Amino acid sequence: MTESNAPEATERVLSTMNRDGSRRWLRPKLFVGSFYRRRVVLAWILIGLFTAIPYMRFRGKPLILLDIPAREFTLFGTTFLPTDSLLLMLLLLGLAVGIFLLTALFGRVWCGWACPQMVYLEFLYRPVERLTGGRSKWSKRLGMNRIGDGGRKTIRFVLYILFSFYLAHTFLAYFVGVEELSRWVRQSPFQHPMAFLVMVSTALLMLADFGYFREQVCIVACPYGRFQSVLLDRRSTIVGYDFNRGENRTSPKKLKTMAPDQAEKAGDCIDCAACVITCPTGIDIRDGLQMECIGCTQCIDACDSIMDRVGKPRGLIRYTSQDELDNADKKILRPRIIIYPAIMLLVFGLLIGALLGKDAADVTILRGIGAPFAQLPDGRISNQIRVKIVNRTDGDREYRIAVAGGDGLELVAPQNPLPVPAGTTRDTTMFVMCDPGVFDDGSLDVVVHLDDGADFSHDHPYRLLGPIGNGGGR
Ligand code: SF4
Ligand code: SF4
Repeated sequence: MTESNAPEATERVLSTMNRDGSRRWLRPKLFVGSFYRRRVVLAWILIGLFTAIPYMRFRGKPLILLDIPAREFTLFGTTFLPTDSLLLMLLLLGLAVGIFLLTALFGRVWCGWACPQMVYLEFLYRPVERLTGGRSKWSKRLGMNRIGDGGRKTIRFVLYILFSFYLAHTFLAYFVGVEELSRWVRQSPFQHPMAFLVMVSTALLMLADFGYFREQVCIVACPYGRFQSVLLDRRSTIVGYDFNRGENRTSPKKLKTMAPDQAEKAGDCIDCAACVITCPTGIDIRDGLQMECIGCTQCIDACDSIMDRVGKPRGLIRYTSQDELDNADKKILRPRIIIYPAIMLLVFGLLIGALLGKDAADVTILRGIGAPFAQLPDGRISNQIRVKIVNRTDGDREYRIAVAGGDGLELVAPQNPLPVPAGTTRDTTMFVMCDPGVFDDGSLDVVVHLDDGADFSHDHPYRLLGPIGNGGGR
C-alpha cells in the first residue's frame, strides 16, 4: 500500500511505477559476478571509444560527423550529401536489418552490454550513487557514512553535473565536430551565446536523463525496446529462469518445516529475491521473459552467487532460449536467420555498387542570388553563377572551370583553378560576360566545363539569361 489517495491499479503495472501511479524508485543491489566483471571491462572500453570517436579520422575525415545544419553526414570516411539520400537510406536500411538479425540471434545483447544509456547509467552514475550512499563497503572506506545525508547528496549532485557536462561535450562533438567544439570551449559564452545555450541545455538533458528518468528510457521511451516482441522468437538467446528446475520455489526456512515427500518436490529456487533486488529495471525474471528485461545479466550473477552458497549448480538463471527452457527443438536455423542476411547482402551490395559508381567529384551549379543578369557599363551582359564542388577523392585537387557555347564568352572567377582539399566542399561565385547580341529570345545555352587535370572531367549544361531582343536592355 502507498500513502497516495489515488485508486490502485488491479492489473500489473510498469516496474518503475507503484500501483497508485507514483514513481517507484529503483536502487538495484550490485552482485559482482563473472558477467558483471566482463561488462565493466567492456563498458570502460566503450566509454573510451564513445569519447574518442569524434577525434578519430579516416581518409582525412572525421570517423563520424552528423552535420545537420549542413545536411552532411560523414560515416567511416564517406560523406553523404543531401543528394546522397538514396545511399544514406541504403546504409541505414542495411544497419537496421543487421540489428534485426543480431536481436533474432542474441536477443537484447546490445541493450545489456553496449547501449550508451545502459553503459553510462550503470557504470558511471549508478556507481556514484552507491559511493555517495554511505552504505556500501567502498562508500564507507571513502568516509561517506561520516558525512550527513545533505552533504552526500550535494557531492552526488556535483558529480552528476560534472558527468553531464562531459557527456554533453561528447554528444555534441558528434554533431558539430571537435574543432568547432573546442572553439566553443575556448571562447567566452558571451562571444557565442547560442552555442553556450545548446551546451547547457544538452548537459541539463543528460542530467535529467541519468539523474531522474534513468531506466524509464529503456522501459517506455526507447523504440528498440518496443520492437522486442516482434524481433525475438522462441529460439533467440535470452536471459531466462529455468522454471522446471527452480519450481516449486521454497525458502530454506520453509524447507525445514516440510515433510520429506514434499521437500523432495522443492525446486532449486530458494525464493531469496536476490535476482529481483539486483534488477535495474525492477522486474522478477521468474515471471518469464518480459519487455522490461534488457538482458543485463545482473540476475544471472545474483542467482549464481546464491547457488554457490547453497551448494547447487549454477545456471538456474542463465543465457538460454524459450525453446530450450521448454525442452523443445533447439534448431538455430529458422526463416528470419536466412532472410535477414539475404536482405543485408542485397542492400550492402547495392550500396557498394552505388559508391563505386560515383564520380570523383560532385558539382552543383546554381544561378546567383538577386537579378538574373546585369548589364555592364560597356554594354555587355553579366550572369552570376555559383559553383559548388565536392572533392570526393583522398587527394587535394584543383578544378579548372571554363564556359563554352557562345561567341565571346568571358569567365571571371576569383580563383580559377579552384583548389579543393581532399574530402571537402568549396563553393565560389563567378561571372560570365557576353555580348547582348548572342542571346536568342533572352537565353543562351552554354556548357560549364570542369576538370581536375587528372581523372575528373564534367560538362554541365547551363542557361545564361539576357535581354529579349538583340541589343535590348533589361
Ligand atoms: S531480468 Fe535480469 S537480465 Fe533482465 S533486466 Fe533484470 S537483471 Fe537484467
Ligand atoms: S536469485 Fe535464484 S534462488 Fe534467489 S529468488 Fe532468484 S532465482 Fe530464486
